[in-house]
Amino acid sequence: MDYDVIIAGASFGGLAAANALIGKRVLLVDRKPIGTGQTSACGTLYGVIEALDLHDSLRQVHPTIVLHTPHHDLTYRLLYPFCTFDYADFCTLLADRTGADFLQAGVLGLDGDTVVTSRGTYRARCFIDASGWRAALSPEGSMAHQPQRGMSFGLETTLPYPEEGLHFWYEPGRLLPFGVTWLFPVGSVSRFGIASYQGQTNLRAGLTDWLSTDFDLPPDGFHGGYFPYVLRTPTAGQVFRVGDAAGHCLPLTAEGIRPALYFGLAAGRLVRRVLDGELSLARALSLYGDFVMERRVYYDLLLTLQDWLIHLPVRLTEAATRFFHWPRVLKPVMQAYWRAFDPAALSPTAGEIEIMRRSPQRKRHRLAT
Ligand SMILES: Cc1cc2nc3c(=O)[nH]c(=O)nc-3n(C[C@H](O)[C@H](O)[C@H](O)COP(=O)(O)OP(=O)(O)OC[C@H]3O[C@@H](n4cnc5c(N)ncnc54)[C@H](O)[C@@H]3O)c2cc1C
Repeated sequence: MDYDVIIAGASFGGLAAANALIGKRVLLVDRKPIGTGQTSACGTLYGVIEALDLHDSLRQVHPTIVLHTPHHDLTYRLLYPFCTFDYADFCTLLADRTGADFLQAGVLGLDGDTVVTSRGTYRARCFIDASGWRAALSPEGSMAHQPQRGMSFGLETTLPYPEEGLHFWYEPGRLLPFGVTWLFPVGSVSRFGIASYQGQTNLRAGLTDWLSTDFDLPPDGFHGGYFPYVLRTPTAGQVFRVGDAAGHCLPLTAEGIRPALYFGLAAGRLVRRVLDGELSLARALSLYGDFVMERRVYYDLLLTLQDWLIHLPVRLTEAATRFFHWPRVLKPVMQAYWRAFDPAALSPTAGEIEIMRRSPQRKRHRLAT
């Protein structure tokens, strides 16, 4: 075998999996250099940065979320603060810990124990697909050929505009009928975005109009893409699916980073046990499937709320936002939201800390030849 494990996609899910496999022969394959393919606003719970010790990527901590609707603005004081971070710093810091080989190439598919890429073929014992919604390594049953189904679409621009707190606007009559806009401050700049829960992709004009009307600013370049809101099967044949490849992005809140890291680490930890001879591959795949499906309740609940948001009259939605603003309601809701993907699980275990200490090649990821 060329490698113990091949991981398709070197973003949140793939890098988390590689972090659980330090000391093994791991090949990360991505069509872009690590840290250059930002699609998201990079907002997550501050606890994620703490658990992974990625403080050098942190740009701003946000103790509040402000929700703007047609008839009121509500400020939610958060039990657990959110934060925004720098994508390039986050990914390179995480990648450099792994000691994995990195190949910049397109993944074209899996043929038996061989990954076919645009730069040659590579064999391995185990496979993790963290290549985003197209699921390049395991496209069966994915949304690759029907992107509009079960997918939202978002577009962003970054502009010089310092601000406090994470802001969301839900004004279906004025902005987007089935979507939201947001402003995520990141130090001296802010990420302004627009997303359609119906997967509508022609959003440039809407984002431009909103920026011009409400902020008197023109957009400066765009990034974004699809993000799924429907869970897919967590495994496909012998492949573990992680992050957007498995539909792990949460409905309604569109939080996909924490689940991708969470399930990426879980898959990586199970693969390590396979390589160490503790588990058969079939058993590890089955355990991973069960682990993902135990959290299905959070996805079902948030999908119901997402459906309500886009179908209920706006006055009813506003009543619901006032209900959740009540501290006695907000506190248990936030506790459950935290527990769904507890950031504590992202911290290295005692065994992993020992492996890191013993792994001399861990210093930097290397370019595969
Ligand atoms: C506009 C927007 C804003 C968002 N904001 C947030 C936010 O603030 N917070 C949050 O938690 N979530 C946010 N999300 C969702 C979040 O970005 C995703 O859920 C998350 O990035 C999923 O991580 P991932 O590792 O599974 O996939 P990705 O981050 O999509 O990474 C997939 C990787 O695979 C690579 N790849 C793809 N195809 C191939 C191929 N064929 N060969 C080789 N490599 C390939 C890509 O280059 C990429 O590096 C946002 C999404 C969008 C679109």
